[in-house]
Amino acid sequence: MSHPDYYKILGVPRTASEEDIKKAYRKLARKHHPDLNPGDAKAEAEFKKLTEANEVLSDAEKRKNYDTYGDPNGPGAQVPPGFEQGGGISIEDIFAGFGGRPMRHGPERGEDLVHSVRLGFREAFEGTRLSLRVNRSEPCMACRGTGEAAKKQELCRTCHGKGKVGGGSGFLSFGRTCPDCQGRGTRAPVCSECGGAGRHPRQETVTIAIPPGVEDGARLRVAGKGEAGRRGGGPGDLYLQISMEPDARFERKGPNLYVKLPVSFSEAALGAKVEVPTPEGHQTIKVPPGTQTGARLRLKGQGMPIPRGSQRGDLIAEVAVVTPQIQDERSKELLRELAELNDADVHKQRGQHHG
Ligand SMILES: [Zn+2]
Ligand SMILES: [Zn+2]
Repeated sequence: MSHPDYYKILGVPRTASEEDIKKAYRKLARKHHPDLNPGDAKAEAEFKKLTEANEVLSDAEKRKNYDTYGDPNGPGAQVPPGFEQGGGISIEDIFAGFGGRPMRHGPERGEDLVHSVRLGFREAFEGTRLSLRVNRSEPCMACRGTGEAAKKQELCRTCHGKGKVGGGSGFLSFGRTCPDCQGRGTRAPVCSECGGAGRHPRQETVTIAIPPGVEDGARLRVAGKGEAGRRGGGPGDLYLQISMEPDARFERKGPNLYVKLPVSFSEAALGAKVEVPTPEGHQTIKVPPGTQTGARLRLKGQGMPIPRGSQRGDLIAEVAVVTPQIQDERSKELLRELAELNDADVHKQRGQHHG
């Protein structure tokens, strides 16, 4: 049950003050910290030794026991389970250096946020500026996003510095990675400012310019306005999921707009100039003589703006011929006369044969 020379490990004389020990530990811990030496099993082992040495020598009672009996736990004390015994090395320690690498605690990017935004026709056509209240987070300044108090590392109480838990105590025993220290064997006390989260919730008003012509189902990315990262990782992004309110007049298909154009029977037959609504007011459009229901009249460049460009889609007026609902005798007479002169062609199309 011999213990390593803790003074030698920290490189301090046996007369070192508490402050000297602290200083020496801090300096060496920085050098051998697993986060700064990813994948380096040697550094990790060194770090464990340092932490154990510091744990003993910075505790007045343990140090006294160690100085007096060579054992921080006092005379005849049991070695707490998990503490490495002498220079012995367990099969777990051998394997810990290869396959079962503990998870690294490196920088972690913040999560993305998604906000749904519903736009009216006008906002989509002209573009708009939105001010959104976003529930996001900012890194904790006290711990710089680590969630840990920066002061000193403590031996993990769950695994007693082993980095592994469970598995029994026989020679061929395998534990799983300690969930509380992620296999490091050491933990820092949690940051009292953020309770270990590494960040603070924060509501922020984010102003976003929506470009003209944005489409239903589009996703706009606002870089860096997601959740705060952890341990120095960058923030996530904010995404705006765009949906459109249906418009009473215009139906949209990509950059093109469709509008219903009711045309009277005589306008359709004789041709006419009629008014058609566009996003910027009314325009005159020419209905050619003999226009049928379903005919499409196109106004080029009068549709929606195409994002990231100066072009616009087309406005397409779909003709719907309105059949007159005749009440008076005079009109009926005129239409019968018209029928005699003009209906034969339609009858032929139907496959009827009138003499
Ligand atoms: Zn904190
Ligand atoms: Zn642990």
